[in-house]
Amino acid sequence: MVVKNPDVVVIGGGVNGLFATLDLSLRGFQVMLLERSVIGSGASGRMHGLLHSGARYVATDPKAAVECAEENRIIAGIAPHAVEDTGGYYVAVDKDDEEYVEQFIKGLRAVNINYREVNPEDALREEPNLNPEVKAVVEVPDKVVFAKDLMFSVAVSAYREGALIIQGAEVVGLNVSGDSINEVVVKDHVAGDVRRIRPRIIVVTAGPWTYRVVKMVNIDVDMMPTMGVMVVYNRRLTRRVINRMRMPSDGDILLPYASSSIVGTTAVIVDDPDNLTISDDDVNFLASEGSRMVPALRKVSVVRAYASVRPLIKMPGVNAREAARDFAIIKHEKPSNLVSVIGGKFTTGRLVGERLSDEVSGLLGSSKGSMTRDHPLFGANLYDDLRELDNPLRSLASDFKGSIDEERGRAAALTLLLSEVAKNSRRLMGWS
Ligand SMILES: Cc1cc2nc3c(=O)[nH]c(=O)nc-3n(C[C@H](O)[C@H](O)[C@H](O)COP(=O)(O)OP(=O)(O)OC[C@H]3O[C@@H](n4cnc5c(N)ncnc54)[C@H](O)[C@@H]3O)c2cc1C
Repeated sequence: MVVKNPDVVVIGGGVNGLFATLDLSLRGFQVMLLERSVIGSGASGRMHGLLHSGARYVATDPKAAVECAEENRIIAGIAPHAVEDTGGYYVAVDKDDEEYVEQFIKGLRAVNINYREVNPEDALREEPNLNPEVKAVVEVPDKVVFAKDLMFSVAVSAYREGALIIQGAEVVGLNVSGDSINEVVVKDHVAGDVRRIRPRIIVVTAGPWTYRVVKMVNIDVDMMPTMGVMVVYNRRLTRRVINRMRMPSDGDILLPYASSSIVGTTAVIVDDPDNLTISDDDVNFLASEGSRMVPALRKVSVVRAYASVRPLIKMPGVNAREAARDFAIIKHEKPSNLVSVIGGKFTTGRLVGERLSDEVSGLLGSSKGSMTRDHPLFGANLYDDLRELDNPLRSLASDFKGSIDEERGRAAALTLLLSEVAKNSRRLMGWS
């Protein structure tokens, strides 16, 4: 089968594009996702790893807090293999932090997030590396999400529903005829060719690069690309995610990610999401802020630092920290077959996909609803899912079960499968 002209082309293979592709495929549309590099190479594969409970936004953005709280439960349900239910502590380490406690708890109540005030002595017994001077502690349902495990599972699930996932395919032009886009021009970085596709609808989920893609049809979107730095340490210092008890600020989250600890982050508006610089000052600042919550951080080694860019919604007179963490789906007037998204969180990627898919379904005259909130992702029962595959990788990947590398094998198996999916998608397009 050679697929020439799908119903929908999705531009950008981060969490938003992947969930949009899955959602649309489950509604029966033929979807092609185009990613200029590899799946997860943008912000989604370089974020902090927090599956937000919503607590962080109760004071600044209650709508985002509610969305995060619900998606936190949904993602843990459909992708338990990609989530560690660590829980999270908010800790007050000085007098200023203490003053936020009342406002914080009021906010948690207002948006209905489960919480528990913890006696500091009990908290220290649970988390011995916490600052012994800790003055107040509140527990919330924060979780850790393994970014690539989740994204690769969504990609494989979408492919199994008929979607094509093409990596190394950069959209370089959108040709307009009359009121709509009639051709998507793609630079195929694998074959070195230029390809042309004629979908009915185009969805732009290019994260911090969205403004560049829509500029191809002379549209300006109000975005505020905002860079953040994270520092990785060589030891896991806490069982839970540790957050500073204050209004969202820089360097106030320490997150246990497998056997590491990751401290972040910063927020600086940038001109070019492809040109990021991490300074020693960034790393020293994060070490200093992180060690206010967990002083043991001073005694462990920095492995590396990394950075990425948030595709935030621009708001007049509002700085990057105060900007809403909500998302906006934009159905453009002209061209009439273009839909894009800005803003959001990794945590709300499924919801963004659902809303994009609602918009596209309306344009294509379908009344089918979203199914992704109850649809277990491929890999949720990895070794059973693998056994059911009609694929030569089945035996190789399932060989991890019962081996010393069973837990680590999950990521390897999903990576192998994604590469098969990408290869087969190219073959089905006649692009191999
Ligand atoms: C420092 C930092 C920390 C964060 N931490 C968290 C966190 O802990 N928890 C959380 O919930 N959220 C977090 N976020 C937010 C989250 O990472 C983003 O909101 C989310 O990943 C955005 O996903 P996306 O799919 O919109 O964009 P992306 O993941 O950036 O995906 C866009 C994709 O489009 C591709 N692309 C671009 N141009 C083209 C083109 N012309 N043709 C084809 N493909 C193209 C890119 O290569 C990229 O893969 C963090 C963000 C930052 C910056």
